[in-house]
Amino acid sequence: MATKEPRAARRVEEGPYGQVGRLEVDDLVVLTLRAGVGAGIAVDGALYRGATNSAGEWGHTCLVREGRECRCGRQGCVEAYVSTRGIARTVRELDAESPLLDPDEDTVTAKVARAAAEGDPVATETVTRTARYLGEAAADLLNLFNPQALVLGGWVADRLGEPLLRQTRDVIAAHALPATLQALTFQLSTVPDNPVSLGAATFALEGFLDDRETFGTVAAGRRAAKAAKARTS
Ligand SMILES: [Zn+2]
Repeated sequence: MATKEPRAARRVEEGPYGQVGRLEVDDLVVLTLRAGVGAGIAVDGALYRGATNSAGEWGHTCLVREGRECRCGRQGCVEAYVSTRGIARTVRELDAESPLLDPDEDTVTAKVARAAAEGDPVATETVTRTARYLGEAAADLLNLFNPQALVLGGWVADRLGEPLLRQTRDVIAAHALPATLQALTFQLSTVPDNPVSLGAATFALEGFLDDRETFGTVAAGRRAAKAAKARTS
């Protein structure tokens, strides 16, 4: 019996760390939303890193032409709308005197989550607008990569949870191509605590195991398992 190739994306998303919502996919996009916004993109079971290890800067793709200024110095970036700072800005645009506002942007997102659950109109509208921005930007990314799964993680996803997921799903359904949606699973991350640190540790481990001199037989076994899987699927 062939041992399944260790797959970075699966391990990063749930592997030994998560207990529920197991994903068995090779093509995966993980969106992480907090002060910064990024995408982890796994293609055919391996993380896509790019030429200089900086792939996945989806947070700095343009969502709104001549839109909000972003901390990268440009305007209209996805991050300026769906990060904790972006969410605080949305609240301010709706009501500059809102009691949801706080100097700490993480706190604003947490307050929005609580207030939206109680039916506060500004908080509810903030979640709706965030879902619209997020869904439109995610649909472009999904059309590009056609993954089997889209996972939402980070502070914003942890706090806004199901209401954000549900509304974002509707926006994606309206904006992504039918073929993109056909095989797509969309869920909240099940990785607890600090997915960024877990991911970094996983890459270090993956690099170690991919050392061909030390682990040549392991690498050969992984290639053979992958080839066997390709033949049977
Ligand atoms: Zn930017």
